[in-house]
Amino acid sequence: MLKENSETFFDCHCLYEEADIVVFGAPYDGTASFRPGARFAPKAMRADSYALETYSPYQDKDLADIRVFDSGDLELPFGRPEPSLQQIEERASTILAHGKLPLMIGGEHLLTLGALKAAHARHPELCVVHFDAHTDLRDSYLGEKLSHATVMRRAWDILGDGRIWQFGVRSGEREEFVWAGEHTCLHKFSFAGLDEAIEQLRGKPIYFTLDMDVLDPGYLPGTGTPEAGGVDFNALLQAIIKIGALNIVACDIVELSPPCDLSGASTSVALKILREMMLAIV
Ligand code: MN
Ligand code: MN
Repeated sequence: MLKENSETFFDCHCLYEEADIVVFGAPYDGTASFRPGARFAPKAMRADSYALETYSPYQDKDLADIRVFDSGDLELPFGRPEPSLQQIEERASTILAHGKLPLMIGGEHLLTLGALKAAHARHPELCVVHFDAHTDLRDSYLGEKLSHATVMRRAWDILGDGRIWQFGVRSGEREEFVWAGEHTCLHKFSFAGLDEAIEQLRGKPIYFTLDMDVLDPGYLPGTGTPEAGGVDFNALLQAIIKIGALNIVACDIVELSPPCDLSGASTSVALKILREMMLAIV
């Protein structure tokens, strides 16, 4: 059985055996292509979650009424993506095997691949809902197959055509957008098309991955590769609440980089989204 972390997200205390959601931190940013710092997100979020109310007036739900267990942060070897992904896959597999929902706090976006592999092993029909400013569909980046810029392409290697639904995307190479036209369901700039996607995906096992840079940098400057022209906080909030209608079997929140916003405001924005995500999916 997994041990509870001494300090927990939102001061949520419940026994592992009774938990519906099991959180774990994945502090790794070894392939960050611009500004690193996402490795500090799990600890910063856990510490600052003390300041956020557990009650959501948006959903009229309270974290005190749901069962969340914090299993702490993995110790990931810096500069070595393969063993890091392996550790993440093992942690997510353990949680899934016990009938619980793994929620990974990154860390950079490459880490999604480890948890997604674990979810796919249990749910061969897995689809991905991906909110991001970036396509993340390069086949390689600077010669590397494993990068936060290639993570959705690696997900496609596993899942195949028509299984990856992308929203908010506004940055990438032309070839990536062309490739997406044939292989993924890519929605540029906003959450337009999300309602239709939810209708089509209803009941299917879903991996939900949230790259925080989908938000406009005006709302969240604390990320390694900020992209202007993003969605606003309320648009993201409403989209998160909507995807609560899906059968989410695993999820993550990645690419918050606390050192890129020393005011701490980006961390509090990410935490509020995390709270709403937990309340929406449970
Ligand atoms: Mn990404
Ligand atoms: Mn991104």
